[in-house]
Amino acid sequence: MSKPRVAILGLGIMGGGMATRLLSQGFPLSVYNRNREKASRFAQGGAFVAASPREAAARAEIVISMVADDAASRSLWLGDEGALAGAAPGTLLLESSTLSVSWVRELAAVAVAKKCDFLDAPVTGTKPHAAAGELFFMVGGSTAGFERAREILTVLGREAVHLGPNGSGALLKLINNFVCGAQAASFAEALSLIHRGGLDPEKRVSILGSAALASPMIKRLLTARAANDFTPNCPLKLMTKDIGYAIKEGTKCGSPLLTAAPALEVFKRAVGQGLGDEDFSAVLKSVEKA
Ligand code: NAP
Repeated sequence: MSKPRVAILGLGIMGGGMATRLLSQGFPLSVYNRNREKASRFAQGGAFVAASPREAAARAEIVISMVADDAASRSLWLGDEGALAGAAPGTLLLESSTLSVSWVRELAAVAVAKKCDFLDAPVTGTKPHAAAGELFFMVGGSTAGFERAREILTVLGREAVHLGPNGSGALLKLINNFVCGAQAASFAEALSLIHRGGLDPEKRVSILGSAALASPMIKRLLTARAANDFTPNCPLKLMTKDIGYAIKEGTKCGSPLLTAAPALEVFKRAVGQGLGDEDFSAVLKSVEKA
């Protein structure tokens, strides 16, 4: 059976990895990126480079968006040159960016009015997982839409879980990231206290690395610190955005995220120090500098 035609909107760290994966698996692919230069390497790999999200969507049976935030997603889907203007009725639309629940639900309503299947399908996993088809998808939307998406989600991910109606995937992703962000912020402060409290940093840090607090997230931070490598897999400014969206969602749901608020301040300070484009593990450097 021939493979469905796919469009990827957004060729950053994650969207670029997903596009690479689809090309390697022989999917006919159209791509769109705001900064067109980033698309050229995919053209060399056989992708069609669209001049607008509308053009990319018009050429596809499945459209996947993977961009920074609500504003970026809105600008790709809506408007005369947006993907929804080009998508034929019946197109399967996946929004895989980490976004606010309210925007995802608003977008779902517009997509359904256009007779398209729409899923919010954010992911865990980072740069290497995107390129290797090892993402974990948290999916919100109709059961029928999820069943339609199974094939593509299996190519892009190691697992996909259907969580409920539109917005369910977005909400679980924000919950995941606020806890990751709070852990990272508090561990950054812990390292600073080790240093400023006069403890031998290397001995104490290695003890903490094998203690009860040593979650996969903390281990990841320790690896970045040991290698002094803060090359962005997940940019710090995006983690800051995610914690902010989670706080708003908690307030809306009557479940205020009291631990997320100070973590957001720690991340915002790091952005203010010019670390926004580095990996979020650079929050460790930020607290040291403060
Ligand atoms: P990234 O490398 O910074 O790429 C961001 C993408 O968004 C680029 O294609 C960028 O286009 C586009 N964009 C930004 N603002 C835009 C706007 N106003 N209009 C149109 N396009 C815009 O980010 P990423 O790491 O790929 O992350 C993409 C999404 O996945 C985010 O929602 C992030 O939170 C989520 N996520 C990331 C990771 C990770 O480990 N990196 C893991 C899970 C989820 P330009 O090239 O033109 O700037």
